[in-house]
Order: sequence, then C-alpha cells, then structure tokens
Amino acid sequence: MARRRQIFEGKAKVIFEGPEPGTLVQYFKDDATAFNKKKKGVITGKGVINNRISEYLMLKLGDIGVPTHFVRRLNMREQLIREVEIIPVEVVVRNVVAGSMAKRFAMAEGTPLPRSIVEYYYKSDELDDPMITEEHITAFNWATPQEMDEIMSLALRINDFMIGLFLGIGIRLVDFKIEFGRLWENEQVRIVLADEISPDSCRLWDVETDKKLDKDRFRRDMGGVEDAYQEVARRLGILPEGGPSDMKGPETMQ
Ligand code: 5GP
Repeated sequence: MARRRQIFEGKAKVIFEGPEPGTLVQYFKDDATAFNKKKKGVITGKGVINNRISEYLMLKLGDIGVPTHFVRRLNMREQLIREVEIIPVEVVVRNVVAGSMAKRFAMAEGTPLPRSIVEYYYKSDELDDPMITEEHITAFNWATPQEMDEIMSLALRINDFMIGLFLGIGIRLVDFKIEFGRLWENEQVRIVLADEISPDSCRLWDVETDKKLDKDRFRRDMGGVEDAYQEVARRLGILPEGGPSDMKGPETMQ
C-alpha cells in the first residue's frame, strides 16, 4: 500500500491524506488522554471499537437526514471521511448533571435536567477549552449566526435521536461532545457533523445500575475500561467478528 501523508495527529486519532481530493482517512488510536493531556494511557482495542461505534452512529444519523463527514469504513481502525473545515467549537449537549457541570454548580451527578442544555467550548489545548457563548463565537468569526442556528438545531436533533437509540439498549445518554465542520459543495457551504461520536466523547450509563460505560472509567481510574467500551459495542450489535481478541488491529503508519 502506498504510504500516505499524515496531515494531523490528535490525542485519539490520526488524519491522513485521502485517496481522492476532498477526502481524508481518519485512523483511531488506542491512546487515551484526559484533563488536557495531564493523564495519558492506552485503552487496548479502543480504536477498533470507536471506529465501529462512530461509523454506526454517523450512518444512523445520516439515515434521519443529519449530514455527516462519514463516507465509509476502510478497515478495523480507519474510516474515509470528507475533508471539512472544522469549526473550533466543542458543542456539549447535556441531559443529566455530570462532570464539569456537577463541579461548576456543586450539583449531584445524576440529577436529571428539566430540559437538554447545549453548551459551547472553544477548542484550545493551550487555554484548556474554555466555556464560551454564541456571542464569542460570532464576535470572533468562528461561525456566523446562521451557522450557529444550524449547529444548535442539529445538536438537538442528534441528542433526541441518540437518547432513543441508547435507551433501546438500556443506556442513558447523560451528555456528549460533538464537532461540526464546513463542507464546500458546488460553491455552497454546508454544516456537517464531523470528528467522532464514541464512549470517548459521550457519558453513557447503564439504565438499571448507573454503571458508567464510557471514558469516565479511565478519567477516574475506575478500572474495567476496555470491558465498558466492548459492552457498548456489544449492545449495539457491532462487536468486531473476532471479539475482544480481534481488537488490536494494525499499528499506526508513520
Ligand atoms: P464535561 O464538560 O462534563 O467534562 O464533558 C461533557 C461531555 O463532553 C462528556 O461526555 C465528555 O466526554 C465530552 N467532552 C468534553 N470535552 C471533551 C474533549 O475534549 N474530548 C472528548 N473526547 N470529549 C469531551
């Protein structure tokens, strides 16, 4: 296979040049970081599982008309995506109090919210992803007011759909983070869902037991991280064929 040019290496993924103009290859690593890289580790098989879970969710969202960057899965750890201009804003949707919201307002984790809340954070490792408002986003030209209307409405649709999807497999969607990008098509710009949706970026709790099935197990040293990610994939019906032994996959190409 021809060697590909690496475009970008993030904390959990590597982006390579794609086979055709306007495409990229997104490679999912097992590396895990938390608290802005202050905590680092490896979750064996995570890349394989997140590749599958993100594919599954993006395809389902595509089916209900949410535009996404996803084209197709290439192999265990790689997917072909459309090249988009990432908007430097992390969109967090919350249904239940947890994580930074529990801390900020000294509220008990697990308190249901009376309505879903959408928050924005500026994507900046140097600044520790500060919380921002739509005012900052439009004033600093990170996105236009029209783009923000689209982003807000897509975020709520994605939330509504995923709440139901996860509830169907006994999982409460507590909160999640998504990113959007601009896609140029015939001189027109469209906002599309980008990055990934996986247990790295969602809080997923078992409905019956409140057991955490997400990256908080890594962040909080709770153990059973690999099992939790596999459990989500198993319940979605997408555990790779060889099961857990099939999770290591090929190494990152440099
Ligand atoms: P919190 O603000 O409570 O730390 O996170 C809210 C939700 O967004 C959680 O589901 C968390 O996993 C996700 N999230 C927030 N920031 C990041 C980030 O930088 N990377 C990833 N993967 N997820 C994030």
